Amino acid sequence: MVKRSFDNKVVVVTGGASGIGLAVAWRFARAGAICALLDMDETRLEQCEREFVEAGYPVMTRRCDVTRRADCEAAIETVIERFGGVDVLFNNAGITQRSAFVETRIEVYERVMAVNFFGALYCTKAAIDSLIRRGGLIISNESIAGLAPLLGRTGYAASKHAMHGLFTSLRSEVRDKGVHVMVVCPGFIKTNLQDRALGGDGEVTRHPQSRIGRQDTPEHAAEIIFRGAEREKDLLVLTAVGKLGYWVSRLAPG
Ligand code: NAD
Repeated sequence: MVKRSFDNKVVVVTGGASGIGLAVAWRFARAGAICALLDMDETRLEQCEREFVEAGYPVMTRRCDVTRRADCEAAIETVIERFGGVDVLFNNAGITQRSAFVETRIEVYERVMAVNFFGALYCTKAAIDSLIRRGGLIISNESIAGLAPLLGRTGYAASKHAMHGLFTSLRSEVRDKGVHVMVVCPGFIKTNLQDRALGGDGEVTRHPQSRIGRQDTPEHAAEIIFRGAEREKDLLVLTAVGKLGYWVSRLAPG
């Protein structure tokens, strides 16, 4: 199989200022891509930009709150104006929630859906014409919570199931237009989000869900995501097993 090349390709990463998003951006940059990092966290974005420039990689950073449709549209438009188009959209910006259903306010559900689901929808809508023109790739960073229930995270799981429905259905719709959609379902990756959800390192081993595997590093997850993108995989399920980790891919139905 011919591998996709990312040399000189324009890669947009939402939530690109930390964790998995940032590690994925570095991996694509090392492969010759031009990265556009979108995030709400301006301080981190500035630091990321400095580090990319110091390393000699082309980069653009832009503050973008993915819950605001206008922000997403303006950010994608700026990327297109500056670099000519979008080749890869990594929908990654996300937040989590961990609280019992009876104790969780509706506003928490609204916020989780706004970031995880609507953010990905707005960015994809804004970039789709360019992605079609350039035969691009959409990567939806979901979760194992998008495939199965996750105890105490009803809002998070619902938002990731919603993403899963959107992107697996979109795959069938845009395949004939030359756009590939890859879905990524990480297990436990050591990032700020996961630290907040599990209450820090100490709790990881006690958390019942951690039985499915240890925490993996964002860098290792990024390597697997990159290789999956090169090979146009449909689905990557990332769970850490020992130091090596493994990845599973399968063809989606339809
Ligand atoms: P992270 O907290 O390190 O990164 C998330 C990034 O998203 C941050 O930079 C944050 O500023 C940004 N962000 C949050 N709200 C935003 C908004 N409204 N607009 C723009 N940017 C926003 O966490 P991470 O673990 O790297 O998470 C990245 C993605 O991976 C998330 O979608 C998460 O659900 C998914 N994921 C993570 C794990 C894990 O174990 N870490 C497991 C499964 C799925």
